[in-house]
Amino acid sequence: MKVLVTGGTGFIGSHTIVELYAAGMDVVNVDNLSNSEAFINDRVNAITGKHSTFINADITNEDNLRNIFRNHSIDAVIHFAAFKSVNESVEKPLEYYKNNIGATITLLKIMDEFKVTQLVFSSSCTVYGQPDELPVTEDSPIKEAATPYGYTKQVCEQIIMDFAHANAGFYSVILRYFNPVGAHNSGTIGELPRGVPNNLGPYITQTAAGIREVLKIFGNDYDTPDGTCVRDFIHVCDLAKAHVAALQKLIKEKPTQSVLVYNVGTGKGNTVLEVVKAFEKATGISVNYTITGRREGDIEKIWANAAKAEKELHWKAERSLEEAMLHAWLWEKNYRNIL
Ligand code: UDP
Repeated sequence: MKVLVTGGTGFIGSHTIVELYAAGMDVVNVDNLSNSEAFINDRVNAITGKHSTFINADITNEDNLRNIFRNHSIDAVIHFAAFKSVNESVEKPLEYYKNNIGATITLLKIMDEFKVTQLVFSSSCTVYGQPDELPVTEDSPIKEAATPYGYTKQVCEQIIMDFAHANAGFYSVILRYFNPVGAHNSGTIGELPRGVPNNLGPYITQTAAGIREVLKIFGNDYDTPDGTCVRDFIHVCDLAKAHVAALQKLIKEKPTQSVLVYNVGTGKGNTVLEVVKAFEKATGISVNYTITGRREGDIEKIWANAAKAEKELHWKAERSLEEAMLHAWLWEKNYRNIL
């Protein structure tokens, strides 16, 4: 089984490649390193003891993709490659639409040319906006997206559904991720944001490492247990394993529907302050934080009903928030050479 992973050098992609090898699959990784570093591939090889094929290429270019499919006998695709900053997407909408939607269209076209019929797509719980009822199920309504990034995920889901409708024999699993945190327990791969992090996890670890002076917690006047926002924080290795489960569903079973959608979360909500406390408990390091005003575009609370994935993919999240924080800290320390 040879899996083409697009964006396999990124945070979720690199952890997924580790799990694909653990499940006995082979990997071709295509990534243009627009938001990741090539050394991550060496680290993944060191963890797995395998040598994944790495191709530095932009997949919005048809010829690049065609060459990959021509040179490798690809059985299935996991498509991560996309721009992912919510804030940046507001500043650069055209780049986000062109890259994220363009890559998905090109990929489907070339998969069709080479008769590759199995796709796992990385989507996001951002498609639910602020849900009226919690936890969210896969049937919860899709809300108007707050940002171009959110729209790209909604549009790509729709494109995949329309493509599957028009092409009998094509199957896809769409995974709607909640908030990935943590790192591989070796501490050798992890989240590697460029510049000032937008996301909570790396902001906490960089503050603990002394790179950022203070973590700003955006708002404590929400209708939540301690007033800070609630999210469903999932260990990235659990999230990675969901991709293997999704592929196995496509390979082993003949799915009853051509496109299956799953929430990938823990099923539990935690506040931002609880994440900080979990980090402090796991590491013994206190995080310098301050409460500031709300961040524009943040939703108040969301967490997953992950029962469908458990029932149909035989997958569930197993690692705790504290473990995730500990592993994220191992990675930050390792990367910064902190003893
Ligand atoms: N957050 C925060 N300070 C930060 C980064 C994030 O308080 O420096 C909060 C943010 O307001 C949200 C939660 O942490 O409530 C998760 O934010 P993140 O950007 O990691 O993910 P999102 O849920 O927005 O995709």
